[in-house]
Formats: sequence, C-alpha cells, structure tokens
Amino acid sequence: LMQLSIPLNFIGSIYREIRQGLTDIEQMFALLDVEQEVKDKDGAPDLVVTDGAIRFEDVRFGYDPEREILKGISFEVPPGHSVAIVGPSGAGKSTISRLLFRFYDVTAGRILVDGQNLADVAQESVRARVGIVPQDTVLFNDTIAYNIRYGRTDASDEEVRRAAELAQISDFIETLPLGFDTMVGERGLKLSGGEKQRVAIARTILKAPPILVLDEATSALDTHTEQEIQSALDLVSRNRTTLTIAHRLSTIVNANEIIVLKAGEIVERGDHRTLLELGGLYAEMWAMQREASEAEEALRRARETD
Ligand code: ATP
Repeated sequence: LMQLSIPLNFIGSIYREIRQGLTDIEQMFALLDVEQEVKDKDGAPDLVVTDGAIRFEDVRFGYDPEREILKGISFEVPPGHSVAIVGPSGAGKSTISRLLFRFYDVTAGRILVDGQNLADVAQESVRARVGIVPQDTVLFNDTIAYNIRYGRTDASDEEVRRAAELAQISDFIETLPLGFDTMVGERGLKLSGGEKQRVAIARTILKAPPILVLDEATSALDTHTEQEIQSALDLVSRNRTTLTIAHRLSTIVNANEIIVLKAGEIVERGDHRTLLELGGLYAEMWAMQREASEAEEALRRARETD
C-alpha cells in the first residue's frame, strides 16, 4: 500500500493542476459579451479564409502592460495541418488560442490567417470562421437537438442527427425516452463531461469551420470515453487546420508539429519522435504522464481484485 500511495499523491497533484488550468472557453464567450477588449478599425473587412493557413510572427502579448505573457512566439500551421501546443501550467497555451480568436490584440508582432492580419479584419468574421471545441461546454437549458443545432441554426433534423452520429453521441441519445427532444442543461438531464464535449463536437461538425481550435479533454475522462472523443475529434479535424491545446500528450503523438511552451517562450518544437529523442522538457513530461497513467492502471487493477 505504501508503494501505491506515492504515485497516488502524484496523480492527485497533477489532477489538481490540470483542473485549475482548465480553460473555460464558454466563459470567454461570456467575457466577450460584457467587455470589448478589441475594437475593429473603421470599415474593417471580413476575414476571408481560402486555404486556412495560420501564421504567428514574433507575437508578444500581456494582459497587463507590466507582465508579458507571450514573449515572441512564431509558428505556422499550414493548411490542413495540425499543430499541438503543450507545456507547463501557466505557460501561455490558452492565451495563444484566445489571440487566434481575437479576444485580444497582440502588443507586437502579427497573427496572419491566409495572409490577413487578424488586427485588421472584423472580429466577428474571425469568430465565425474559427471553431472551438472547449473541453468544458456549457449547455443551454433546451433540448439536445437545440444544443447541437446551435452550431448552424438552419441545419435540418437529418443534419443534426448525422452530426451527432459523427460525434459518437447518437447511440447515447437514442437510449433516452425523448431522444433528441430531451431537455438538458441545469434544469434538465445532466450530461457527463464527456457527453457534453461530444455535443460540442457535434455543434462544431455542423458549423464546419475552416480553422479549428481544440482544447482537449483532461484525465477526468475514463479511457473508453476518451478514445471515443478522440476519434470524434480526429474526424472533425481531418483536412482542417487544427491547433490543439493539449493536456494529455498521448492524444497528440500524430500532430504534424508539437510546440513546447514554457513561460511564454517556445523552448522545443518538432514531431513526437524528434522531441522524445531530444530528451528535454517534452521527454520529461512524457515520462511523467506515463508514470501517472501506469499508477492509475495499477490502482484500477488493485480495485478489481478487491
Ligand atoms: P494551463 O495549462 O494551466 O491552462 P496555460 O499555459 O494555458 O495554462 P494561460 O491560461 O495562457 O496558461 O495563462 C498564462 C498566464 O497568463 C498565466 O500566468 C495567467 O495567470 C495569465 N492570465 C491568463 N488569463 C488572464 C487574464 N484574463 N488576465 C490576466 N492574466 C491572465
């Protein structure tokens, strides 16, 4: 038992750290309604997405002028490619996704989408073309169908059903007596974290944005659910420019490029194999997560034999 208790403490602290670090993107939306952080220039044109190429050029940013959070970030996501951002809590990962959504303007450098500077185009058009799958979705107090259709309000029933299927949530919905007409949210059926996330994925499938930001699931999900969600995410991001804010390294091993962020700076970059061979921060994080999941597995086995 002594042997088990150390890894368990370890998981506990990792888990707390991850929980604290959760980006509630819906909260970002709420924020958006109350305070306008960015102002469009007069007559700012709409963002036109043709290929879906993202380019960060020496981007600097701080929420407060005295404290710089991103200290010269440059990277590219070519059309249809996927790039993952990893790094310790507080490194600035979610900040990058907020800037890509133009919740804030950069203090120096540029963010270009298909050659257009985000600071020069209408913010609403940016948000219409960038899709986000948050890992913690807030549902409306309405039916499941309504919650999915929110992605594209003119979608037909058939399209809603198909999106649910692709998001791997339709089997679950069909077990409910009222099916798609089941009320969810605070006053209705409470969905689990994984179910909510699949509703968010179905929404995004309907929205079909050319650029996708995934704020991926955390260890709060069991392995089976995680696999289901991962395959739904793989599907929605296929052939789509995708930026993943990763909490679990196991889900991003196939990313075209992994960017390791530490204290607002890129300290390592490359694909999974390259980064492991490098034997730096990424390799260390990988080893730590391995240990944690092995301990988790040991715990599960111990419970089963009880
Ligand atoms: P985690 O893995 O914990 O989610 P992260 O790498 O995503 O971390 P960010 O959320 O980008 O980190 O935060 C980077 C830094 O910016 C943190 O030190 C945080 O305190 C600060 N920060 C984040 N949001 C705000 C805000 N709205 N106002 C002021 N500071 C903020």
